[in-house]
Amino acid sequence: MESLFGDTYEPQDEKSRLYADVILPVPIPKMFTYKIPRSLAEEIGIGYRVMVQFGSKKVLTGIIGKVHQKPPKEYEAKPILDVLDTYAMVNPLQIKFWAWMAEYYCCHIGEAMNAALPSGLKLSSESKIQLNPAYDSETSMYPLDAREEVILQALASQEELTYEDCERLLGVKSIHGIIKSLVIKEAILVFEKVKDKYSPKVETRIRLTQEYAGDKKALEKLFQEIASKPKQEEVLLKYLQEIPVYQKPELNLKGLDKKAFTEAGLSLSSLKTLMKNNVLEEYKLIVSRFEEVTESKDEIVLSEEQTTAINQIKEYFEEKHVALLHGITGSGKTEIYIQLIKEALESGSQVLLLLPEIALTTHLVGRLKKVFGSKMGVYHSKFSDNERVEVWNGVISGKFPLVIGVRSSIFLPFDSLGLVIVDEEHEASFKQYDPAPRFQARDAAIMLAWLHQAKTLLGSATPSFESFYNARTNKYGYVQLDRRYGEAQLPAYHIADILKDKKKNLLKLEMTRLMREKIQEALNNQEQVLIFQNRRGYSPYLVCEDCGVSPECEHCDVTLTYHQFAEELRCHYCGFKEKVPKACHACGSVKLVAVGLGTERIEESLTLLFPEARVARMDLDTTRSKYGYQRLLEEFGAGNIDILVGTQMITKGLDFEKVTVVGILDADRILFFPDFRAGERAFQQITQVAGRAGRREKKGTVIVQTRQPDHHIYEKIVNGNYKKFYIEDMTERQKFYYPPFVKLIKISSRHKDKNLVEKAARYLHNLLNDIQVKKIMLGPEKALIGKIKNQYIFESLVKLDKSGNAQAVFKHDLQLILEEIYANKEFRSVRVVVDVDPY
Ligand code: ADP
Ligand code: ZN
Ligand code: ZN
Repeated sequence: MESLFGDTYEPQDEKSRLYADVILPVPIPKMFTYKIPRSLAEEIGIGYRVMVQFGSKKVLTGIIGKVHQKPPKEYEAKPILDVLDTYAMVNPLQIKFWAWMAEYYCCHIGEAMNAALPSGLKLSSESKIQLNPAYDSETSMYPLDAREEVILQALASQEELTYEDCERLLGVKSIHGIIKSLVIKEAILVFEKVKDKYSPKVETRIRLTQEYAGDKKALEKLFQEIASKPKQEEVLLKYLQEIPVYQKPELNLKGLDKKAFTEAGLSLSSLKTLMKNNVLEEYKLIVSRFEEVTESKDEIVLSEEQTTAINQIKEYFEEKHVALLHGITGSGKTEIYIQLIKEALESGSQVLLLLPEIALTTHLVGRLKKVFGSKMGVYHSKFSDNERVEVWNGVISGKFPLVIGVRSSIFLPFDSLGLVIVDEEHEASFKQYDPAPRFQARDAAIMLAWLHQAKTLLGSATPSFESFYNARTNKYGYVQLDRRYGEAQLPAYHIADILKDKKKNLLKLEMTRLMREKIQEALNNQEQVLIFQNRRGYSPYLVCEDCGVSPECEHCDVTLTYHQFAEELRCHYCGFKEKVPKACHACGSVKLVAVGLGTERIEESLTLLFPEARVARMDLDTTRSKYGYQRLLEEFGAGNIDILVGTQMITKGLDFEKVTVVGILDADRILFFPDFRAGERAFQQITQVAGRAGRREKKGTVIVQTRQPDHHIYEKIVNGNYKKFYIEDMTERQKFYYPPFVKLIKISSRHKDKNLVEKAARYLHNLLNDIQVKKIMLGPEKALIGKIKNQYIFESLVKLDKSGNAQAVFKHDLQLILEEIYANKEFRSVRVVVDVDPY
């Protein structure tokens, strides 16, 4: 294994530290060798961020992957331009992890690095202008106009200006034309200046100068001197009261916020005098962007089941790397995580708790903050670049031995992980689709833990079939919790037949009579209702009643979704929008009708059916802002919403006492999706959303609407018979060669020329077919969505033998084939995307 992921040994004697292999964010599968300038030789090592020149112009941030004494064979090494930090931003384990990722997911190590580093740690460059030293206004043959003069004058006193500076100077919106003219007139030069994106948060504080802070006698003397100036005395006393420098000198370093004086009604001018007299001084303090939180002491007593589960998990950890905690919703898994995290932290290891994006609610964060206080960092995609850099640095400095975060938190600079927990491990959103690396964060987290010799706990109420398979084949430990904590019971299911109601004219606005009755009942009892439909917008189709044509996206092979509120048709794949047409494009008929259900339309139906109820909607469209999601949850929690309609956003982590009824509008849409995981996904989604109902004393009710009430899956969902469904589904997967019985690799070719891409895909497919390993190949065929953003997509699917050897051989040959394709004149413009373990 060691050699596979590169050697992280670093020579210590200065003479051997001549060259550095630098990882750069470019799509080329290797590191690049640079010369280490003498002056930097002692300042850098593996994991340091450096600035290097790449190609003739570009300056890039890279990470040193290796230090050695061998000059490169094929090119003359350029020197490293600069080292950006005084410490290694990345540790050797991370570099090994990136190398593993590049190898396993068939991408380049630079792409892994690019995904790993928060953008605040990547340099960005900015265009600036300066005076052309060769320019002389006296002799120049081009006269300048008034605005150009203004800029030249400014440059006479300031060395360089940004474009924005110039825009501000002239009060214009875009400066590009003027700059261009100045360049043509040879008056200025434009250059790229590299800047670090991260900026720390700085506060201005007041503190005692060293003269007085370090010398008690001097201060006593001062008090005698200002005895006649009570206002100054007051200010000084206030400071000493808040900051007792002689008992706690470290407090003086932090100083006091100016506000403390004004809020106490003290004189600002006396403060100024004291500053002028060098008693107090202003001081810039770098402060954390995160609030300090003190942990609360109240201990939770674990139930007997929870204690048993913890003991079982620990026993498994003795002999296995991974354990699966299969605990129904509300069974108290989170408390088990908390206990295990506490123990790991006490033993001095770091802990990562990985969660899907939407499960990371303030509710859960708050619950964990109470226990772990400021030791816990949170890593979230809605955090700003600066905040992410602070979490990153907090992991390095040891401030955050615990991190809870989303997918990308596996890249944080941990150096001594002891425990990794993946909650909701079945979640499809752990998979990154685009760009490369197309990694599965759960699987990668297991690898990460393995590199640290740490343990992984996977938790779910509905484990992924892959993980359950690994548990049943004894690769993972398996621990079950099948009772809800306390008195709470599992909900009762009702399967409602859409077609039957339709025939009998009982269906109103796509809602069965049963659904309407149960909602009404909940409303009468002042309880809350959740309605799930995994489709946003008003309706997925607009259809012409006369000719049957639906408006499609100009750039993609999909119908446009009708958004009634915005009066638009939108493509959910490329973002294309248009006003709702008045007439059919194909035949001119004005009879365009909305077909199918989106969350917007359901919201409308509910408002019509239950005019007294307060209805709200939670989907991508209503939660775009940073706190949009949070606000809706708070409103719902406060009881200001009776019925909440939503996409899968409402299926996770919601824990509200008053929710007693959950409705699933169209279960068939999940179940009959053409994918081998459709059954598994339907079981998971329905069970998860149902798990939101009746989480306290009152038993919940779940209504599942379908056109096929006799489908075998429903019987198992109703009885919570996960295992039986799993066994049936596995039989199918084994028969038709799907994971976990084979490894899947999807290779898609994309290009705007349909014939070319089809030809390339066929050529590629044949080459892949020739690789001598045990496999089955499907395709090449047009992807399910055959065109996205004007790119036609053709796919080959490889079902590969599970043995490590088959994978290694296939991936190795695949790399060579890709190189051949990229060198091939005809196909070089075709983009080939490799997706290992596709979803
Ligand atoms: P899960 O994560 O499995 O869905 P939770 O950990 O959220 O379950 O537990 C469900 C509910 O039961 C929560 O409200 C939680 O606070 C409560 N709970 C779980 N274990 C205990 C315990 N040992 N003592 C008190 N309350 C508990
Ligand atoms: Zn028509
Ligand atoms: Zn589109």
